[in-house]
Amino acid sequence: MQTTTLLLWDIDGTLIASGGAGMKALQAALKNVFGVDGSLATIDFAGRTDTWIMREVFLRFGIPATEANFTRFFEGYLSELPAMLHNPHARVLPGVREILRAAEGHGAFAQGLLTGNKRRGALAKLARHGLWGHFTFGAFGDDSEFRNELGPHAVRRARAACGLDFPPARTWVIGDTPHDIACGRVIGARTLAVATGSSTADELRAHAPDVVLDDLSDTARVLALLAGGHG
Ligand SMILES: [Mg+2]
Repeated sequence: MQTTTLLLWDIDGTLIASGGAGMKALQAALKNVFGVDGSLATIDFAGRTDTWIMREVFLRFGIPATEANFTRFFEGYLSELPAMLHNPHARVLPGVREILRAAEGHGAFAQGLLTGNKRRGALAKLARHGLWGHFTFGAFGDDSEFRNELGPHAVRRARAACGLDFPPARTWVIGDTPHDIACGRVIGARTLAVATGSSTADELRAHAPDVVLDDLSDTARVLALLAGGHG
């Protein structure tokens, strides 16, 4: 079958739950690198990029947001992350393995990532569950501090990887927060919002994505939705 449709997947709350590993790794890095023993519990991580989150932490604790500090903070985070990801609450979300495999086998889909994680963090989170191999391209938090700027990078890399132009009507952005919906809208893509992360289905519905699902467990239905190109 000819490849016609681009699927751009968010990671946290969409493909996997990390059991708080991201926040715990960042908190450990804050202590190890900057000697600050502070709580990050009130920072709203969901749907943000790594750099955006680190800048919030710097602001909160009065740490200069220099390029060197961003680098030190991220390296500290990355060294803590694998251990933090091995917690009993880290898991692949319902139906994710099945839909990724089904989309791969279907033939019409190219699958990439569209995530606020920097690439090396995304790799750690997905490799933990054997999911990294599903994706050959993506846009990451390395591309921009702002999620709404990530879409064009993902589309450009999809074109380079597949040698195809995917029109917005054949592009899906799949995520768990209003930020994912907004980010999809910027590139004119269709949006599938899934309530397995920090937002409820009703909260997501208020942002008018094309489709809202409680989870991705009904593989046949999800595949039909994505292949149909409409909700
Ligand atoms: Mg997410």
